[in-house]
Amino acid sequence: MLSKVMKSKTDEKSIIRAMFEEGCKMSRIYGTENVYDFSLGNPNVPAPEALKKSIVSILDSEDPLKIHGYMQNAGFNETRQAFADIENRRTGRKAPYRLDNIIVTTGAAAAINIVLKTILDENDEVVVFAPYFLEYRNYIDNYRGRTIVIPPDENKGFIPDHEKLQERITNRTKAVIINNPNNPTGVIYPKDELIKIADVLKAKQNEYGTDICLISDEPYRELNCCYMDDGSMQKTPVVHLPDIYDNTVVCYSFSKSFSVPGERIGYILVPDSVAESQRFIEAATVANRIMGFVNAPSLIQLAVARCSHETVDAGYYAENGKLLYDALSDMGYECVRPQGAFYLWVKVPKTLLKAENIMSEEEGERIFAERLKHERILVTPGKAFEGEGYVRISYCVKRETIEGALPGFCKVIKEI
Ligand code: PLP
Repeated sequence: MLSKVMKSKTDEKSIIRAMFEEGCKMSRIYGTENVYDFSLGNPNVPAPEALKKSIVSILDSEDPLKIHGYMQNAGFNETRQAFADIENRRTGRKAPYRLDNIIVTTGAAAAINIVLKTILDENDEVVVFAPYFLEYRNYIDNYRGRTIVIPPDENKGFIPDHEKLQERITNRTKAVIINNPNNPTGVIYPKDELIKIADVLKAKQNEYGTDICLISDEPYRELNCCYMDDGSMQKTPVVHLPDIYDNTVVCYSFSKSFSVPGERIGYILVPDSVAESQRFIEAATVANRIMGFVNAPSLIQLAVARCSHETVDAGYYAENGKLLYDALSDMGYECVRPQGAFYLWVKVPKTLLKAENIMSEEEGERIFAERLKHERILVTPGKAFEGEGYVRISYCVKRETIEGALPGFCKVIKEI
């Protein structure tokens, strides 16, 4: 019965999910408070109180046929306008975005799938920069595209490499995905580097006479603060890519900024500057329907739209990030300082590789993760992001989870 594709995808099984299941198993044995699970990016700051109020008020006051009925596939007009206004507030544009630049989606996952369905023919190429959210590969496979991976450069702070990008673009390149702030590194890309990427894309479009879509995946956009060594809080601007490259579409999600990943709500912004923008929006709206999403869930569409100026307290994650970064760095771990999102990217200790005579980075990650697991600490190996030689610590957890795990981290590095 099963297709060959799904047989192989089922056998592959997500590494992150496997770690999460391992965590559940360990919690049953040792008790939840004694297991330090840093595997999943499931936000733990509660959704804004205003969201609950708006859900209750909508249920009390609106016509049930409106709340629960079918609607246009692109979403309620009031929601589309509210989401266009979010972009306008953020970017201060002179020519504001309108509701018809927005398609409301069931989160960023659906948004990216819809965009790929809209633009890809079989064997078209989509470029991603490692380390990356591995689901991109599955999404690209869904439309029989080819994933072209640009390897990471740790010496350049995991910033997308424009020179390598230039070498990998062909006349089949339909899209490039940029995820900023980045999962799994926590890095926020500086504007001058993004301009270099945009310049490469513009030159390649001219060379081949093609359109290359830049997909800006921004679910962590509002989680852009971190604490510096002197204790000051730094807020790093997240560049609005349509300002520097016309063929950009933005895929946004409220999963992390509102702590509502289970509600499935986000949007696609298609600026007028995108080639054939009106046709693009029409096609993407059809894609939303024929892929079976039909429309984003109606109640949450209305509720988020009515408190769209809210976000969760990003400072909480920044405090967690500082606690972990400082403590692990003091112990001797090499970590990338997280500027945003809620992930710490930690290098597998070189001493471990030497002590165990480990030849491959993959083996190093596995052994490092095993040693941490022995201390009941669960992290995700870099292989899950094609970022070998590192592990990801997801710190959207209670403060006690971090505090409880620190002795275990210390023991592991001391015992190598
Ligand atoms: N893109 C990145 C980089 C993510 O980390 C995630 C979820 O973790 C998504 C997209 C999907 O988010 P959503 O819950 O909005 O589908």
